[in-house]
Amino acid sequence: MGELGAFVRALPKVQLHCHLEGTIEAGTFRELAGLRGVESARATGPLEATYAFATFGEFLLTFAEVCKALRRPEDYARVAREYVASAQTQNVRYAELFISPSVWTFFHPGLDVSATVRAMRDAFEAARPDGPQVVLICDLTRNFGVERAFETARLAVRLAQADLGIVGIGLGGDEANFPPALYAEPFAYARAHGLRTVAHAGEAAGASSVRDAVEILGAERIGHGVRALEDPAVVALLAEREVALELCPTSNRLTGAVPAGAPHPIAELDRRGVRCTIDADDPALFSTTLEREYELVGAQCGRASLVRFARNAIDASFASTGRKAALRAAFEVAAGGLETTRP
Ligand SMILES: [Zn+2]
Repeated sequence: MGELGAFVRALPKVQLHCHLEGTIEAGTFRELAGLRGVESARATGPLEATYAFATFGEFLLTFAEVCKALRRPEDYARVAREYVASAQTQNVRYAELFISPSVWTFFHPGLDVSATVRAMRDAFEAARPDGPQVVLICDLTRNFGVERAFETARLAVRLAQADLGIVGIGLGGDEANFPPALYAEPFAYARAHGLRTVAHAGEAAGASSVRDAVEILGAERIGHGVRALEDPAVVALLAEREVALELCPTSNRLTGAVPAGAPHPIAELDRRGVRCTIDADDPALFSTTLEREYELVGAQCGRASLVRFARNAIDASFASTGRKAALRAAFEVAAGGLETTRP
């Protein structure tokens, strides 16, 4: 591990934009596909090509293919355990992970979603107190349309009421063809029932999609949001309302949200007063880790900025006030012992 790597490891981290299904290592996916009798060309070709994709559309299909290999609650419990082990190694103290139950049941309509989420929650709790605290955000998966999204919002409320660790809803999937405004009602419903709200926007569509996610959906954080820079008024809106962006550099390059060769816009967004955070999105699918993303940003923006982005993630999280204060206190102790003036 290089010096920057050691610096990143020493920073206690909060994870705000990571899809649990996107953390499944290729070996685990292939093993589960074999175990559950799921046929997939990705599970039988060369290991290094398991998660190969060329376009954003192909990426979404790859993500779906991974979900197809998981058929039982214990499959998800295994994935939850493997996530925790990796997060612990990377000094993650708290995480809000996306889950996509509408993709799970698209492939396996008989899957008991409550039992599955309970199995994951038990796996997360078994790793405490040494492991990170992990809570979940239900993704409404825009591709399935508004009715299905509403069903998922209702499901999220039921799971939250059953105390299964659900704190909010999110909106991922095909942004270009399913704009935010379609989902105003499920978002209002979830919020009225006490859930927090986030949305992917400004990734596969432009700045107006970011504006609509904030103004129409009331999203409290935006996943990616890099294309907000296409309209200075939208950047100003994010800064003024303190809507944090969850920025995932490797994901943005591989999906084409940020053009190859251009510097990642995190530095520009930060300079314009937007609250930026760093994450890995689908680390296994993108062959990266949260630490690797921190290193990429550290090399671009410097160590002092890294500390600020890590602190932003605590502030922008949906943790309780008490939990936030504890995370913040531990963070300041760790960060206080680090040399930040070097690039
Ligand atoms: Zn995402």
